[in-house]
Amino acid sequence: MNTKAQSQHNYGGLDLFRIFAALMVIAIHTSPLASFHDSADFFLTRILARIAVPFFFMVTGHFILSDLFFPKNPSASQSGRIFSLKTRAGKYLCRLCLLYGFSVLLYVPLGLYAGHYNNLTFSSLLRMLLFDGTFYHLWYFPACILGILLVILFSRFLSLKGVTVVSALLYLIGLLGDSYYGIAAKIPVLKTCYDAMFHIFSYTRNGLFFAPLFLVLGAWAGNTAISSVNTNLDYRLSIRRLPSALCLVLSFCIMTTEAFTLRHFGLQRHDSMYLSLVPVMFFLYRCLLSVHAASKKVLRTTAAWIYILHPAVIVVIRGVAKLLHLSALLINNSLIHYFTVSLLSTIVGLVTAYFISRFSNNYSKGKKLLPKATGIFPGTERAWIELNLNALEHNVRFLQSRLPNGCRLMPAVKANAYGHDAVIISKTLNRLGIRDFCVACVSEGIQLRKAGIKGQILILGYTHPSQFFLLQRYRLTQTVVDYEYAEKLHRSGLKLHVHIAVDTGMHRLGICFRSPDLIASVYQMNHLSVDGIFTHLSACDCSNPECKSFTESQLSAFYRVTDYLKQNGYPCRGLHLLSSYGILNYPEAAEDFVRPGIALYGVLSSKGDPMAASLQPVLSLKARIASVRTLQPGENAGYSMGYTAESETRIAVITIGYADGIPRELSSGGGNVLIHGMSVPIIGRICMDQMLVNVSAVPDVKQNDIAVIIGTSGSREIKAEDITMQCNTITNEILSRLGARLTTVVKK
Ligand SMILES: *Cc1c(COP(=O)(O)O)cnc(C)c1O
Repeated sequence: MNTKAQSQHNYGGLDLFRIFAALMVIAIHTSPLASFHDSADFFLTRILARIAVPFFFMVTGHFILSDLFFPKNPSASQSGRIFSLKTRAGKYLCRLCLLYGFSVLLYVPLGLYAGHYNNLTFSSLLRMLLFDGTFYHLWYFPACILGILLVILFSRFLSLKGVTVVSALLYLIGLLGDSYYGIAAKIPVLKTCYDAMFHIFSYTRNGLFFAPLFLVLGAWAGNTAISSVNTNLDYRLSIRRLPSALCLVLSFCIMTTEAFTLRHFGLQRHDSMYLSLVPVMFFLYRCLLSVHAASKKVLRTTAAWIYILHPAVIVVIRGVAKLLHLSALLINNSLIHYFTVSLLSTIVGLVTAYFISRFSNNYSKGKKLLPKATGIFPGTERAWIELNLNALEHNVRFLQSRLPNGCRLMPAVKANAYGHDAVIISKTLNRLGIRDFCVACVSEGIQLRKAGIKGQILILGYTHPSQFFLLQRYRLTQTVVDYEYAEKLHRSGLKLHVHIAVDTGMHRLGICFRSPDLIASVYQMNHLSVDGIFTHLSACDCSNPECKSFTESQLSAFYRVTDYLKQNGYPCRGLHLLSSYGILNYPEAAEDFVRPGIALYGVLSSKGDPMAASLQPVLSLKARIASVRTLQPGENAGYSMGYTAESETRIAVITIGYADGIPRELSSGGGNVLIHGMSVPIIGRICMDQMLVNVSAVPDVKQNDIAVIIGTSGSREIKAEDITMQCNTITNEILSRLGARLTTVVKK
C-alpha cells in the first residue's frame, strides 16, 4: 500500500509508525497485560492502541485523497464524473478491494473452524462483507473502502472544510453508538434509532461513522503538501515540533481521562471512538510529519501484512502451544503471548513483503527500479532553477531603504513570481513581514491562498464575472478595470474588496483620469470596499525627455484625481503608482504602496541600469550535461546542419531546451553557458529539450557535470540581463517564460 507521491518524499517517520501501529493492533487482539492488571490493560489496548487504526486511515487520506481537494482549475471539481478508476483514489480502491478479497478467502478456513459461517444467510453475509468483516480484524477493509467512497462523493459537492464538517457530524453520531452509547441508551428515541442501526451493523466503528473523519484529517496534511510539490521547500519545516508534541501529550491525557470516566460510569458499548481521539490524531500526525527520514516501502508492506496475518499467527501459536504442552507459558502469560505473536507476525510480515517485492519486481521487469540515490540534491537531476532567498531578503531591504517611512512593498509575484515560484517567494516575503502582493489573475491569487499566504492579494488584471465568487471565497482584491466593470462587480451583490485603476495615459486598464466623478461614484457602491487607487507609469523606465515629460503628465493626472476625491470627502487611501523603474526614477511618488517586480528578483529589465549594482539576482538556471562527443572537421551538429566543425571539436549536450524557456534566439547568436568556471559558446540550433555547446576549451568535461545558463560558476557570471541582449527582449520575458518542466530548489 504505497504510492508514487510517498516514495518521492522522506516520510520515514510515518512508515516506521506503521509498524508500531500494526503491533498496537496485535495488542488489542491479545491484551498483553490482561494477566497482570486490568486497568493497565485497558489503558494499553483500549486507549493507547486506539490510535492505530485512525492512523492508517489518516495516511490513506493523506496520500490518496488529498488531490481531490486540490484541483488545478478551481472549477474543475464541480464538473465531470463523480468517480473514475483512473484517479489515484480509484486505483487505490481497486487494490484495496483485491487485498480485501484475498484476505476474506485466506480466512475462510479459520472462519469455518471458528463457526463464523454457521446459520449464514444472505443478509448476514452482506453485513459481514460490508461492515463487520468476515474475520474480526477484517472490518478495516470495508470501513476504509466505504469511507473513501463517501469522502469522494462529498468532495464533489463540498470543499475540504465542508467535507470535514460532515465527517465530524458522522463521527459524533458514531460516538453515541460507541463509547458514549450509555447516553444514547437513556434517551428512548435515540435508543430506538441506534438499536435499529445495530441490525445493519454491529458497531458504529465502521466506514460510515468512523473512517471518513480520519481520512479527511489525512487529506488536510496532503493538501498542504501538494502545494509544495516540485519544490524542496518542505511545508513540514513549518511544523513546530515542540508545541505539537506538547499538544499531543495534553490531548492524550484528556483522552485517557475521558476513557476512564466513560468506563467508570459504564457508558461504553464499544471503545474505539473518543471525542479527544480527534485532537490526539491531529497532533500525533503533525509530530510524525516533522520527522525527516527516508521513506521505506518495506516498512509499509510489512505493516500491512502484519495486520492481515496476525490473527492466523495467533491461531497457529495456540495450536502449537497445545501440541507442545506449552500453553501455560505461551498462552496464559499474556505478555509472553503478545511478544510471541508480535515477533512471529513481524517475521511472517517481513517475509511476505520480501516475496511480494520480488514478485512485483519480476512482474515489472521493463520498469527497472530507480538506482539508489546518488547523493545529488533532489530536483537537480536535469534542469533546474536555484533560488537564493538571502538575495531576495537583501533586495527587499534595499528597496525598503530607498522608500519613505509608511510606504509598503506590494511585490508583483505574478507569472509564478517571474518564473521564481510564486509560493516559495511569497512565503519568504510573508516571513520578511510583507503583507501585500500583486498577481495578474484570479488563479494566481488562489494558488497563493491555498499555500497559506497571508495579507492582501491584489489582482492587477481582469477577472471574468463568472469567477467573482472566487474573489470573495479567497479574499482576493480586484482591480476595477473600467467603470462598467465596477458596476458589474457591485451588482454581483458580493462583498468585494477592490483597488481602482486610473488610466493616466497608458490606455491599458483603468477609469480615465478625466472622469474623476465616475471614480468617485465607485466609492459610493456599497458592496465594494475601495481599499486602494493606483495607476501604472508606462514610460518610467526610459530617461529621454519625451518619456520624462509623459511620466510627469501621468503623475499630475493621477494627483488631480486624488485631490478631487479628497476635496469631495472620499477616503482616498491605498495609493500606489510605482513599479521597479518607478522606484528607481521617481522615488518621490512613493505613496502608500509600491509594486516592484523585476527589481525584487535582483534583476533589471535591460543591461546597464545603475541600480542593478545594488541588487542581487535571486535566480540561477542550471542543467546537467547529458553527453560529450567529438566532431571531426566537416561534421555538423544539431538540426538543419546548424553547426559545422572547422577543426576537431568537442561538444557537450545540455539537458535544457526551448521548452524549458531557453529562448531559441540564443542559437549560434553569441549565447554562452558556464561550465567549470569557463564560458563556452552555444552552437547549432537550440532544440526543444536540449542544446549543444562547444567544450573544446574546457578540460575534463563529463556526463552529469553542471552547466550554468544564468548564474555564477567559479569567478564568472552570466546575468539574465546578458541574455536579453542577444534576444532583443527584456529580462521580465526571459524569466517569466521559464518552463513548468524545470524544478525549483532553494540554495541553502
Ligand atoms: C507587472 C506589474 C508591475 C511590476 O513591474 P516591474 O517592472 O516588474 O517592477 C507593477 N505594476 C503593474 C500594474 C504590473 O502589471
